[in-house]
Amino acid sequence: MQLSDEHKMIKKMVREFAVNEVAPKAMEIDETAEFPWDTIKKMAELGLMGMPFSEEWGGGGSDTLGYSIGVEEISRVCAATGITMAAHTSLGVAPIYQFGTEEQKQKYLPDIASGRKLAAFGLTEPGAGSDAGATQTTAVREGDYYIVNGTKCFITSASTAETFVVTTMTDKEAGTRGITALIMEKGMPGFRPGKKENKMGVRGSDTAELIFENVKVPVENRLGEEGEGFKIFLATLDGGRISIGAMALGIAQGALDASVKYAKERKQFGRAICKFGAIREMLADMATEVEASRLLVYDVSMAKDRGEHIVKEAAMAKLFASETAMRATRTAIQVHGGYGYMREYEIERLFRDAKITVIGEGTSEIQKLVIARELTKE
Ligand SMILES: Cc1cc2nc3c(=O)[nH]c(=O)nc-3n(C[C@H](O)[C@H](O)[C@H](O)COP(=O)(O)OP(=O)(O)OC[C@H]3O[C@@H](n4cnc5c(N)ncnc54)[C@H](O)[C@@H]3O)c2cc1C
Repeated sequence: MQLSDEHKMIKKMVREFAVNEVAPKAMEIDETAEFPWDTIKKMAELGLMGMPFSEEWGGGGSDTLGYSIGVEEISRVCAATGITMAAHTSLGVAPIYQFGTEEQKQKYLPDIASGRKLAAFGLTEPGAGSDAGATQTTAVREGDYYIVNGTKCFITSASTAETFVVTTMTDKEAGTRGITALIMEKGMPGFRPGKKENKMGVRGSDTAELIFENVKVPVENRLGEEGEGFKIFLATLDGGRISIGAMALGIAQGALDASVKYAKERKQFGRAICKFGAIREMLADMATEVEASRLLVYDVSMAKDRGEHIVKEAAMAKLFASETAMRATRTAIQVHGGYGYMREYEIERLFRDAKITVIGEGTSEIQKLVIARELTKE
């Protein structure tokens, strides 16, 4: 796909930053599971922690395509940094940017759209994953406050973020129409991160529980009206799926790049292994699927900027790119043989990192439900 000069410039700038600043730490943060604060601060200074938001609010002033290219390039070298960037931008900041009142935007956006503070999105609960509408966290209105009780789990940046968009149940009888979104702040009495997860992949990202024990949240922190939380989280996930598609694309491209390089260098039977038909076929399949993923992710990014209905296209891009990332990283290990299995090569990390892309923001099974529902709706 032919990119505009502006998008080419974004790609070049983010790639340089990724190669020079992010890649050298990727293996270490995977080993130690340490959050890469230094990198995230540098990304904020460069405008990479709020790329699709207007500069008026402290954002990077790019469009969705520029942002997708950014997530792709960061994830190509380090998916843990990529998911931190994507979750902050698409899940933490975007709902306040899209649905916040003028006062809420004034209060929160300058800090979070600039990346000075991290934002997160609390939807998943122990009993409400794919069925996120089954939320058990309650918010009971008492005068000018909601009293919030419950637990969220698997929340990206739960212990590093300072602003949270959280879904709660304000009217159980109303089912999904009883879900209300609230903006919560680190330090509100009764609100704290819980157990930090020890993960298979994206280990340098912060994933933990959120615990609410009689948290008093002012009514002015309600995002949208009471009962609009379901609508808000569905719209948020549409945007989020594009970013996970972009993350998966970056991982798959990273796997392809490493495989091509290795196949040209590694010699067996007196020849570079890239001369063997079996290896050539693997590289050709990988490259074709990576390019198809790129077209889907870039196309839906542009459709979002045109204001189109993107529910099906976002799900397709996420589904295809994430399944491609799984196949591409598995193949990349095969191309690398035994070396691909070893920790000192980046390939096994890419393989572990890829797996979250077929789970987070809706599993592949859920993306297919969404696509089929859109295809068959009256
Ligand atoms: C590293 C990480 C980061 C995350 N970050 C966040 C975050 O920032 N915020 C947040 O809110 N959540 C986050 N999540 C949660 C993530 O979105 C959920 O894990 C995901 O939606 C799946 O939910 P679940 O884990 O409860 O699995 P389940 O819903 O229990 O699914 C188990 C299996 O059943 C299948 N299944 C379920 N329902 C159906 C159905 N109707 N038809 C067919 N198959 C079905 C699923 O596809 C899956 O294979 C994160 C998760 C991880 C692992």
